[in-house]
This record gives sequence, structure tokens and C-alpha cells, in this order.
Amino acid sequence: MKLLFVAFQRISTGLLCTCMLLFLSCQKEPTVDTNPSIGSSDPTLNYILSLGFKRENVVEYGDYYIVEGDMKFSKKDYNNIPGARLQQRFDNLIPIINHDIANTISVRVDYSFTDPDVRQKVINAAQASISSWNSISVSKLRFIYFSGSSANITLTHTSSSNPNTYAVATPPINCGAGPSIGLTDIIADLDTNQLHQLLVHEMGHCAGFRHTDESYLNGPYLVPLTPYSDANSVMNSGAGDNSARSWTGFTAYDVVATQVLYPTNAFAIAEYNNATDKVDFRWTPSKFCNTTVTIQMTLPNGSYSQAISTNNDGTESFQLDLPGTYKIRVFTTSVPALEATITL
Ligand SMILES: [Zn+2]
Repeated sequence: MKLLFVAFQRISTGLLCTCMLLFLSCQKEPTVDTNPSIGSSDPTLNYILSLGFKRENVVEYGDYYIVEGDMKFSKKDYNNIPGARLQQRFDNLIPIINHDIANTISVRVDYSFTDPDVRQKVINAAQASISSWNSISVSKLRFIYFSGSSANITLTHTSSSNPNTYAVATPPINCGAGPSIGLTDIIADLDTNQLHQLLVHEMGHCAGFRHTDESYLNGPYLVPLTPYSDANSVMNSGAGDNSARSWTGFTAYDVVATQVLYPTNAFAIAEYNNATDKVDFRWTPSKFCNTTVTIQMTLPNGSYSQAISTNNDGTESFQLDLPGTYKIRVFTTSVPALEATITL
């Protein structure tokens, strides 16, 4: 039986510094749309519903939607998402950050907090939250505090028409971290541990985590290896808009969820299939946020074959005729990603 191989490596990563245009929107009274079906004329709402969120948990405020109390989807950002998938498999239902940049997510606190003591409190809590996330071992997900003028995630002051709202966070967009966490005036009432818990939760949304205790249109979309409920999960709902919990640490399943969504280990494999006389190459679709990936092969003589773009369904087969060592690389738009080699 002919087979073999297997070597993977991640190619260099780069920090994608996202310049963000911050804007303040006029707060308007929420508009309740009772039509629960996907098919609204609003592409942002369609996108939200396509991710499985229930219509009754989506509230429209002028130029944005708030989902489940504290996840913000701006119409400006989501009306034209290149490659946004409206039909997705389970694995892909959680928009996450491209793995090539997930280890360098910069976080800053802007100057919109008029009280310097409040701003310092937010900075301290942000740094504590970053340390907490970074303490999760065997995970690619890493945040960095940044004091410069732009970062992947900006913590900013925001107003809210809901007097009980502490915070809203944006989910990942275009393969990057959700760009903002808005904090309202009432965070001044929170103590250090409560603000720490709040920011861990909201940073989780920016990284693609949803509420652990919510079900969705077609049932719960569980991160593999995690249960239906987890009483003390940091990602349980309500963190942004009601009683503020104190930081008590991640649960064991919070850690598992992070390690599953952002693993450090390789997740591609190539092997020779004796029955078909082809090489089957497999990867994990959820590790790429695009609908298509490009596959490029290095032939034994060192030249590249023509790269092909293919559906990001996690599998592709190649007919390889000549003996030798082949390198196969899977990547998305501009970032090198996974490389595997197979020797025939
Ligand atoms: Zn939340």
C-alpha cells in the first residue's frame, strides 16, 4: 500500500492593521419587524438571520442592529460583504477571525471617555481581559494591548437608548476581528472585577463567540466538544445588558471552545488514496472565512502548478503521476495559510 506523508506547517503570519472609521450614529427608537423569515429587503438583516440568530432577538436601531442585547451589526459594514455565505454548514456558522491574524489582535482604548479616571479604569480592565484570554493554552487566539491611534479592536464610549446597556460589541467582519466595543456611561458603576468580566465577554464577541446559552433558528450551533449549557460560561448572555457578573475565570468548556475554534496545531492532511490512485487533501473549512480557497501545488521539480480556486468545503483530490515530493498549499485571498507535503 502506497501512502504517506504528512507534514504541515504554518507559513508566516502578518499583522493586519485595520484602520477603522468610527462613527456615531443617531440613536433611534427600535423598529420591530415581525416578519421572521429570511428574505427581508435588508441584506444586513438577511445576513444576521442566515447566521441562525432568531428574528425576535434582533432589534433595529436606525443604521444598525443589536442582536441578543449586545452584538452590533452595522448596516454600513454588513450591506456588502464580499463572499458572505448565506448558506453555511455547521462548521462555518461561526464567523471567526482568519487564523493567520488571530494571534495578533490589537486592542486600544480611544479618547472618547471624557473622565480620565474612567478611561484608565477601562484600560486596566482591557489589559486584564487580554491577559485572561492569552492565558488559554494551546490556542492561536491572542490579543495585544496597543496604545497607538489605530488597532483591530477599539474600545470607545457610546450612548444607548437602553438605560441598562453596558456594552455592545461587533462580531468579526471580512475575516478580521469585530472592530469595536462600545461602552456606555453606566460602566462607571462597575467595579474592577465586573468590568474585567464584561470586557472578556465583549472581546469574545469580537473574536466570533456567540452566547453559550442561546439557541438559534435551527437549534443550538454548538462549538464541537462543548455542551448545550454551561452555567458559568463567560459567554452566557446578559453580560452587556443586565446584572453585571464578576470575573471568576473561564470555565473548562470556555477553554475547550477557544481551543477548538482557534487551534494551534495543524489542521490539514494529505494522503494517497490507493483505491482512486489520487491524493486526497483535506482541511478544516472553518479555519478560513472565505467561501473559496486557492490551492497551489509545488511539483517535484520545484515549479508551481497552476493554482486553482475551489469551494471551501474541506476536501480536494489530485491526480499525481510522477514520484517525488509535492507541496500543497491552501490559502485565501492574500494570506499564506497551510502547507502540506506528500511524497509518492
Ligand atoms: Zn454578549
